[in-house]
Amino acid sequence: MGATRNRVAPSAGDQAHELPLTVLAGVGPARAARLAALGLETVRDLLCVLPRRVERWRERESIASARAAQHGDGAEHRVHGSIVRLRFSRFGRRSLLRLELADGSAAIDVLFFNQPWLRERFRKDQELEVTGRIVDAQGVALVATRVGSASAPLPQAGTLEPIYPSTSGLSSEMLRALCVRALEEHGERLRETLDQRELARRGLISIERAVRQLHRPASEAEFAAARRRMALEPLLELQANLLARRRAREATGAWRAVVDDARDRALIGSFPFEWTAGQRRAAAEIRADLARGAPMRRLLQGDVGSGKTVLGAYACMLVASSGAQAAFLAPTEVLAEQHLRVLGPWLERAQRRTALLTGALGARERRLALERLARGELDVVFGTHALLGSQVRFARLALAVVDEQHRFGVAQRERLFDKGLEVHGLLMTATPIPRSLALSIYGDLDVSLLREKPSGRGTVVTRRVAAARDVIPDVEARLERGERVYWVVPRIDGDEDDELGAEQRFERLRGKRWARFGVELVHGRIDSQERDARLARFRDGAARILVATTVIEVGVDVPEATVMVVEHAQRLGLAQLHQLRGRVGRGAADSVCYLIGAQTGSERLALLERTLDGFEIAEADLAQRGMGDLVGLRQAGENREGLASDELDLELLCAARELVASDPALARRHASPRRLS
Ligand code: ADP
Ligand code: MG
Repeated sequence: MGATRNRVAPSAGDQAHELPLTVLAGVGPARAARLAALGLETVRDLLCVLPRRVERWRERESIASARAAQHGDGAEHRVHGSIVRLRFSRFGRRSLLRLELADGSAAIDVLFFNQPWLRERFRKDQELEVTGRIVDAQGVALVATRVGSASAPLPQAGTLEPIYPSTSGLSSEMLRALCVRALEEHGERLRETLDQRELARRGLISIERAVRQLHRPASEAEFAAARRRMALEPLLELQANLLARRRAREATGAWRAVVDDARDRALIGSFPFEWTAGQRRAAAEIRADLARGAPMRRLLQGDVGSGKTVLGAYACMLVASSGAQAAFLAPTEVLAEQHLRVLGPWLERAQRRTALLTGALGARERRLALERLARGELDVVFGTHALLGSQVRFARLALAVVDEQHRFGVAQRERLFDKGLEVHGLLMTATPIPRSLALSIYGDLDVSLLREKPSGRGTVVTRRVAAARDVIPDVEARLERGERVYWVVPRIDGDEDDELGAEQRFERLRGKRWARFGVELVHGRIDSQERDARLARFRDGAARILVATTVIEVGVDVPEATVMVVEHAQRLGLAQLHQLRGRVGRGAADSVCYLIGAQTGSERLALLERTLDGFEIAEADLAQRGMGDLVGLRQAGENREGLASDELDLELLCAARELVASDPALARRHASPRRLS
């Protein structure tokens, strides 16, 4: 039960948290144990349980009207009548109690499944009020959800009632009753410890008010305000922990990679291009971090194509030239291999020894790489998730570079950091998010930004079109001129609705007169060696068309490619499309990106035609889809129940950070000793 696990760190001056649940009437040791298993141990825990939603009790209707309703649509009905007949049957361990209930208008069977004890509670002619859902079970029937009688009536129509998460052993009703009891008996003890003015400034109510409005809301608005205030609590804890972790880290020692100015200039100068001002700035920040003696945690944000990779390589080089090891982690094999291919020669010219570690390695190669790593005979290792395995040991790992870091969970990243003593971390992402947000999400990170792209790039024009045939003439003309084309189809196989998958599209394009341009196909089911060979043919121009699934979304870098065609573009998110589009426009030639089948969701995709600015697109994506996928928050929150990304309120997250940062006492109170990740 996620919501109840959300235990909140005790605040000073607030005694409710001290009280065991057995102080509540009706909670004995057995029930307390059951609650403890759900993470509920104190009165405060109970007060802080978040109901999922609030429901308004409906008006009664006649049985005739309930019978006339649509079956099986899940809607609740509320009827009243007297019992005409009772029937009870058992089938093994299951049972069914069937009451025939009649009012003036009609009669209906009311069903109770597997609650044999109810049999004793009802008798003929008794007046009952029942809510339930209409089903067809040998005729129209009502599956009962709640029952009221003269002595224990159901709430009046219009009454608001919070709905709690239910688990085996604890129903929503039971939890509601307990919460209300806790509120009545001990609600007064809960005290707000945050500055009320600061709260008010952010539109937040006090915690005392919040628990009342949470369990006994007078309106939907009250309930929403209460949920918002309660949602702040775990965020305060998260931020306090981030801050504490940052402080602790600052106090520990880490490998010092010190490189003098002349050598630094030589390193940067050994690339075949001039670095952008942004790259130089980020490099200076990284160099300072690595020389400082405390572990670096830096997030490098830059739009796709802004040139982040060389900075990762640069960081590896600094560490390797000072005698320690670096790991360069990428989310896909394709990308890890590309990094090694591009950066390997540069590192090797400086006598740095490199290797690849991915799931695709043969057993022998893998063993060899592992041995060399453990013996310190490798300086920089490039790899995928395979780097995280427990058999992977380093002689002295001092730096982990995580490319496309939002593809990895916090826990995964930490696994790599844990392979050395106080490992420096450089996290790179193409998903630009505002700085304040980045700080709030990754509270313990420093942020570097690459705003501009390397100069000398051609433009990229984006166009939405209805069907593949609309792009054929232009694509063909470009192929004739020697240009290269990515053709992305989200699915590998087609489906019954004549929708082509990548396989079928590949067959068609190859079957046409386009065979002469060379057509290759890559997707996740193709064996990695074969996939590399195909990518290599595309890279060196032997094939000018690459049909692919979104496996090429991240990182793939072929500057000669000038056309990106995306089929079923409406299926993909804006940020993902922007990433795909980032595969072209990497050389000097002008490029085009066609979004096919974009009639549906067209408005959304129109933004891609209007702008190339990843920040603007990220913001729109954020607004449209919630933030989970965008910033990898699903992972950021994955070990923190109650931090479900779809519920995450950005303003609240930033508020939590500000409140914690401005109040050291608060930071201490809320930091829990539990490890964060
Ligand atoms: P991303 O930020 O998307 O990871 P990459 O690091 O893959 O971008 O860089 C995209 C391309 O730009 C690569 O071909 C890279 O070699 C090239 N590049 C990087 N920095 C520069 C620069 N300063 N000038 C010219 N080209 C550059
Ligand atoms: Mg990249």
